[in-house]
Amino acid sequence: MLGLMQEWPLLCHKIIDHAARQNPAREIVSRSVEGPIVRMTYADLNIRSRKVAERLAREGCVPGDRIATLAWNTGRHLECWYGAMGMGGVYHTLNPRLFPDQIAWIMRHAEDGFLFCDLTFMPIVEKIAPSVPSLRRIVVLTDEAHLPQSPLPGLVAYETWLAEADGDFRWLELDENTAAGMCYTSGTTGEPKGVLYSHRSNVLHAMMACMPDAMGISSRDVVLPVVPMFHANAWGLGQSAPMVGAKLVMPGGKMDGASIYELLDTEKVTFSAAVPTVWLMLLQHLEETGKTLPHLRKVVIGGSACPRVMIRKFEENYGVEVVHAWGMTEMSPLGTLCTLKPECDGLDAEGKLDIRQKQGWAPFGVEMKITDDADVERPWDGATFGRLKVRGPAVARAYYGGAGGEQFDAAGWFDTGDVAHIDAGGYMQITDRAKDVIKSGGEWISTIDLENIAVGHPDVAEAAAIGVPHAKWDERPLLVVVRKAGRNVEKKALLDFMAGKVARWWIPDDVAFVDEIPHTATGKIQKSVLRERFRDYRLPADRA
Ligand code: AMP
Repeated sequence: MLGLMQEWPLLCHKIIDHAARQNPAREIVSRSVEGPIVRMTYADLNIRSRKVAERLAREGCVPGDRIATLAWNTGRHLECWYGAMGMGGVYHTLNPRLFPDQIAWIMRHAEDGFLFCDLTFMPIVEKIAPSVPSLRRIVVLTDEAHLPQSPLPGLVAYETWLAEADGDFRWLELDENTAAGMCYTSGTTGEPKGVLYSHRSNVLHAMMACMPDAMGISSRDVVLPVVPMFHANAWGLGQSAPMVGAKLVMPGGKMDGASIYELLDTEKVTFSAAVPTVWLMLLQHLEETGKTLPHLRKVVIGGSACPRVMIRKFEENYGVEVVHAWGMTEMSPLGTLCTLKPECDGLDAEGKLDIRQKQGWAPFGVEMKITDDADVERPWDGATFGRLKVRGPAVARAYYGGAGGEQFDAAGWFDTGDVAHIDAGGYMQITDRAKDVIKSGGEWISTIDLENIAVGHPDVAEAAAIGVPHAKWDERPLLVVVRKAGRNVEKKALLDFMAGKVARWWIPDDVAFVDEIPHTATGKIQKSVLRERFRDYRLPADRA
């Protein structure tokens, strides 16, 4: 027997219809690429997104067309997303931090027909556009006065282009499983792989993200997504914030400590989300200037492991709750978030920090398990490592074009490529990427644990642990360290600092001090590059 409830397809543009009706005057504040702070409302967002849809349709875009964006987090970028989705198109965020050749490869693979780009990225666009045959039109997200001279044919200023529409476009009534958005995973090895979100998956993900033990935002919040829209959908905040009617503050291209602080302060931001590197810059700025964070109540930190010392600083020095989170582009991206369940109430401050440092527990909509290499489930005892596998309505079931099929199994589980343990309370902790874990004498050593402890040393700016060949143990850990400016911690002092914080046999065999650690386009440490760089490295014991 079927239920007798209404069919109301879960479509993304319904989110901004709802925002415009329920919270029409709520603001979206952006640091524009041209410089000034600009303001619009959810009512404006709705009209301007309809104009985008109307203009795209007039350009000949049809449902299913891929509409690329190469842009910072701004109100304009958000309009392009909703406009594209509302006419049945697929927004496709491109990561400007990739090499131009990689961006062009991705655009050809996705067969992008249309591109919205920020002024900042004109040099990249001029380089790649000639090698993307599917590209029919480029719109620069600016006004006529700022439109640059360019050899590219048919370039048009967004505001001029948009002014040709009247805004009474009727959203398409689509099947909720229609593709809505696209994002390629940065992938430290192999070709990038395309994740294709649907309207349904985006809406369900946004609802999941709003739940109190997830991001927990409301109409009373002022939300600053520092995490870029081109990095895993700004963790869904472009949909969750209008869904609940929260004010949005978009940082544009400036993510240094002083610029982020200015927005936090002047716009009275209560909630923000970003990768640890951004928070490191902000904390440094606060320490240098003695400023405080009176309005901010919560920050979500993820994308790579959040160091314990960062959680402590935010909470003890500034009264800001940290929610450590884990996710992936393939998961829309939220997977787990770390809030304290009532069972943790009896723990002391350090015990609570032990929990908060984990990546957290899954909200409804994410199932997870850990398995051994033969796919046998491993226990949730907080110690046994396994491959982390997930499934849910906002988790990919295939990559665009069919690449990477081996990561999906017949029962619908997606192998994340991460290694983790899960405790009896449901809290998951990532211990490594499967390909980064150090295998010493048949046992696994977590590189993330070693790095977290090392960056707790006051002289260490950044640390990366890699396995290097060892005659007896196969692999032993080498710690690669960038010192803070003007500091000169030495190997012995650092290893003494780490002693007692992990098992003795986990302590690195050696420390290499470097000026810089290489990062991927989404800010993760490029272990493959480091391993290559230290391929011929001889550990002290092997040198003897
Ligand atoms: P991306 O798709 O670029 O967001 O990358 C996803 C990957 O980032 C995950 O598979 C993890 O390896 C890593 N990652 C994300 N969040 C965390 C976290 N909180 N701690 C450790 N690794 C993380």
